[in-house]
Amino acid sequence: MDNRPKKKPKLGQNFLIDDTARHRIVDALGDISQSTVVEIGPGHGSITALLAERAQRLVCVELDRSLAAELRFRFRNHANVKILEADILATDLASLLGSAPKISIIGNLPYYITSDILLHLAHHAEVIELAIVMMQREVADRVAAQPGTRDYGLLSVTVQMSASATALFTLPPEAFNPPPDVYSTVLRLRMRSRYAELGVADPAAFTRFLRTCFAQKRKTLSNNLRAAGETLSSINTACEAAGVTSAARAEVLTLPELAALYSTLTLSN
Ligand code: SAM
Repeated sequence: MDNRPKKKPKLGQNFLIDDTARHRIVDALGDISQSTVVEIGPGHGSITALLAERAQRLVCVELDRSLAAELRFRFRNHANVKILEADILATDLASLLGSAPKISIIGNLPYYITSDILLHLAHHAEVIELAIVMMQREVADRVAAQPGTRDYGLLSVTVQMSASATALFTLPPEAFNPPPDVYSTVLRLRMRSRYAELGVADPAAFTRFLRTCFAQKRKTLSNNLRAAGETLSSINTACEAAGVTSAARAEVLTLPELAALYSTLTLSN
């Protein structure tokens, strides 16, 4: 047996080699014959090849220069396919709309920046209809987690303010080359911003508030808020208004409860 430590592939390049899986992922987008689809990290094009046949318009964003060049050559005769050599995190997704009202996103994500990509998608929720994204199973569990469960935390709340998340299926390491050390789950994100509905006017300030609430998972809400400078009396007033106990931990609070807490504290400051 080879016990040497495995070299991590650069840029999270674990390529999908399971043929059934690549069909299932693309099928999860539904009918895309009238859609503009954006693929994050197309790699050697295993998912891209199916998308190119089905999508009305396909924009692929690949950071690796040689992969982008390979794809540009491979899809040179597909008028509906555009390959961008770019960092997805530096790409304004609204600029990819063309004449479409919204885009659909798909990607076997580079795992080293999964959370950043999810936050990037959440940030652009108003131009995205649907996202089918594959990530490390543990991260997918956190994104889709419900209040009161072990996995529920900052990532769950931040993404769920902009999307409803459903885990579709999980793949073993052997579905990829080279195989990663982890299992991978495909998530469906139906983008739907909840900020207006929950009365949050400033999403960035709300995210800072959430960071405070979840700063130390084992601490109570009250202790986390006090550590950030809130007074006990304003915390108690806000908790009462939101209908939650200050002895609770943030990980049991629903999105409406967190939003109500935030609104009352903001008003009292
Ligand atoms: N879609 C291919 C597949 O399923 O075989 C490749 C998936 S691989 C897990 C992730 C891909 O994302 C790689 O091709 C990698 O070069 C690309 N990538 C890494 N960082 C990126 C970034 N910041 N922006 C765009 N693409 C990136």
